[in-house]
Amino acid sequence: MDYEYKRKNCYKEADKKELKAIFDYAEGYKQFLFTSKTERGATATAKKLAEERGYKPYTFGDKIKAGDKLYFINRDKNIFIVRVGTNDLNKHGVKIMAAHVDSPRLDLKPNPLFEDSGVAYLKTHYYGGIKKYQWLTIPLALHGVAMLPGGKRVDVCIGEDEGDPIFYISDLLPHLSQEQNTKPIGSAIKGENLNAIITGIPCGDEEEGAKCAALKLLHEKYGITEVDFQTSELCFVPAGKPRDVGLDRALISAYGHDDKVCAYPEMTALFDCDSKDTLIAVFADKEETGSNGVTGMQSRVILDLIECVSRALGADPVLVRYNSKCVSADVTAAYDPAYSDVYEKRNASYINCGASLTKYHGARGKSSTNDASAEMVGYLRDAFDNAGVIWQTGELGKIDIGGGGTVAMFIANLGIDTCDMGVPVLSMHAPYEVISKADLYSMHKAMVAFCEK
Ligand code: MN
Ligand code: MN
Repeated sequence: MDYEYKRKNCYKEADKKELKAIFDYAEGYKQFLFTSKTERGATATAKKLAEERGYKPYTFGDKIKAGDKLYFINRDKNIFIVRVGTNDLNKHGVKIMAAHVDSPRLDLKPNPLFEDSGVAYLKTHYYGGIKKYQWLTIPLALHGVAMLPGGKRVDVCIGEDEGDPIFYISDLLPHLSQEQNTKPIGSAIKGENLNAIITGIPCGDEEEGAKCAALKLLHEKYGITEVDFQTSELCFVPAGKPRDVGLDRALISAYGHDDKVCAYPEMTALFDCDSKDTLIAVFADKEETGSNGVTGMQSRVILDLIECVSRALGADPVLVRYNSKCVSADVTAAYDPAYSDVYEKRNASYINCGASLTKYHGARGKSSTNDASAEMVGYLRDAFDNAGVIWQTGELGKIDIGGGGTVAMFIANLGIDTCDMGVPVLSMHAPYEVISKADLYSMHKAMVAFCEK
């Protein structure tokens, strides 16, 4: 009998077979992550993976039967993968796993292009919570879509192929930074200075030759003219592939772990698990800016989907929701010894100690959060422990320091028992975040255990 609770280290507990499983699983994740830098990328990648496994497109009003494997795509930015079970929906409800697939980045402004001193730049407006200084002097790739007149959409991706050029935002040299160095870190870099270089060779004798060159090149490759920026969604994200960290390759550094590091495991759990329940894996958009809008988790779309699925199977949507359960799969902060003063050590989440269950997030005395019930946490604990999952629990940081939010409360507000759980992340929201492969695999196993309970 263990009277005392002790956190376990996944790598320490793993035998040879488990270690191989952890490392093999991480390779699939890294591939997924590289093609999922934006919500559109993640949605397209998930669609492809679902189709490879026999999942078929679904739209509201379609007929459904037990055993169906479906996906519903909401405006190309938000996907719901549905596995219809044989259990009575009224009695068992649906099991939902909801992660978000948008990540902090630099969106282009509607009129982004300008030239100064012979170099053309694109102006950006950052999306989500970033520390501006981190986005300077790193290789950036341009992703997104532009709508041309008449409804034609072009997809843009520059900076990810080995031979592609990248984009770059400059910083002040240390030699001339005497004044800048005295400023607080949050105000030293201005949002209006996050302008990325796009061209430098002037086009003939034109007045703004570099700007003209940029427009010429964009038109040649994508058919875009300057006004088309106004009907586009283009953004800069860190360029390049996920990389292993450490001599033993225990960790992965990449852009967008928050929250693809939870989206991928919930999807693989839905694909792989043995469950008679109806399962839904949600890839949500707009979490980083408050989950508003038609593709965010505050949209009615999830409610409509549950209603349509319930009715199509002859169930009562109200009963179904009441008996449903949801894991809001989102990352948490990993304890960082370099900044130990913001963490409360007993209630922090530690790298390599498994996916972390978070009963509540929020700030200022648990405001603006879902606070999962003891019953819901107990339900998950049994699911994980019975399946031999190594997991932990924690809070984001010290009470008075700050806080955070997830999609949990928006799903709980629909009358669905919900609890947060996710992979601990080092340097969350940085261009390159770090996670542990063991925690990633723990998240997969936890989601399988939830689906199979
Ligand atoms: Mn998140
Ligand atoms: Mn986030």
